Amino acid sequence: MLNASLTIALEPHYGPRSLSERLFKYSLAVQPQGPLKRTVLYFDYNATSPLHPIARQAWLEISDKHWQNPSSLFPEAAVARVLLEDNRDVLADLLGCEPQRIVFTSGATEANNAIAAFLFQTSHRDATVAISAIEHPCVLDPFHHFFGNRVRELPVNVSGTVCLESIESLLATSNPVLLSVMAANNETGVIQPWENILDLCRQRGISFHTDAAQWIGKLPIQGLGACDWVTGSAHKFGGPKGVGFLVIPENTRSFHSQRGGPQENRSRGGTEDLASITAMVAVLVHLQNQGAPCAQDETGARHRRSLAFGRDAGEARLCELLPGVIPLGQHSERLWNTLAVLVPQVENIRLVAQLGREGIACSTGSACSSSSGTPSAVLTAMGIDSSQARHLIRLSGGWETAPSEWIEAVEKLSIAATQCLAVAPRVALGPQGS
Ligand code: PLP
Repeated sequence: MLNASLTIALEPHYGPRSLSERLFKYSLAVQPQGPLKRTVLYFDYNATSPLHPIARQAWLEISDKHWQNPSSLFPEAAVARVLLEDNRDVLADLLGCEPQRIVFTSGATEANNAIAAFLFQTSHRDATVAISAIEHPCVLDPFHHFFGNRVRELPVNVSGTVCLESIESLLATSNPVLLSVMAANNETGVIQPWENILDLCRQRGISFHTDAAQWIGKLPIQGLGACDWVTGSAHKFGGPKGVGFLVIPENTRSFHSQRGGPQENRSRGGTEDLASITAMVAVLVHLQNQGAPCAQDETGARHRRSLAFGRDAGEARLCELLPGVIPLGQHSERLWNTLAVLVPQVENIRLVAQLGREGIACSTGSACSSSSGTPSAVLTAMGIDSSQARHLIRLSGGWETAPSEWIEAVEKLSIAATQCLAVAPRVALGPQGS
């Protein structure tokens, strides 16, 4: 239930930051009347998040009142156009870049594909690209498709962090047209040193891309705009599915995320989804507000620490209950919401199914790789072989997940693992996997 008092007044004049104020109004006026009613404990936020009430309200309001095509020429459509550009201004301000660098897309997959296609079309035939071995398939696949054996993969250490030394030695001997390293990994939650990598790229004049789909909404985003290319996806932080954005380098000519009409400054043909874009920006503004998890200030940092406390408590309890489990990325800096563990001897697909019956929604890793049956590139890069990868369980909580919910989830996980083992009684969980 939402507070019904929210309205956006349609003033006849719009200043360049007027939407920012209105979006701020969303975050003040729309307060859920109680905790979201959940029939299951949802621990799959890295796959997708429920629509935030602020996003929902913004989406409804724009769909009701500003459904006109922003490219049409009559006055109401001009209002939609102004709102669209206001959204761009607000997002640019949050990221720390020029508004004209932002292209609204259908999500991170489209954005990442578009970068690979654009670089392939505009670079010389021997050009190489360097991408980390733990990228999401929507980065790995298009770059391999377009660049084939001209892709240089950057290794990670056993904790899942991209090695700066390997980047330094690669850049000492080659000159890729792009270096791409994600900001935070979707499977392990391990945070990548993208700021250091950006510096290395800057020193050598190499274009840098970060897929920030898992970072945005969980950590402060100011400064991401310094990267040449940035991808984001609304449904990872409470926005609607099917909307996201791409930051492109300044003065990029003839970039097309998709061809067609002249929308998005000629960078992406197709009528803009103003309702979804507004919903995405509204929730992002809300998450950056003072004290919210993405706020740059000390209150934001405190909020993130308290969210990580729940995850850490869950992790500690799980290790106590099942001493043989192996948490991944435990010695690296991780997103506050992610717990990826290997549960030896228990088939992850069966465990996830059993947990589903117990009311816990979680996953066997990335939503994209869980249906393919092949071990994810992330685990392979971390030196985990395919037989071990079958034991990976990922719990990813959200902004409202309480420590008690983490404890409940891992206690149910422990019971479910024991039940799965009871079906195959030859093995038991123990410190040595005995
Ligand atoms: N990049 C990362 C790191 C992701 O985790 C995901 C989602 O799983 C994507 C890209 C794809 O995002 P979208 O669903 O917006 O295409």
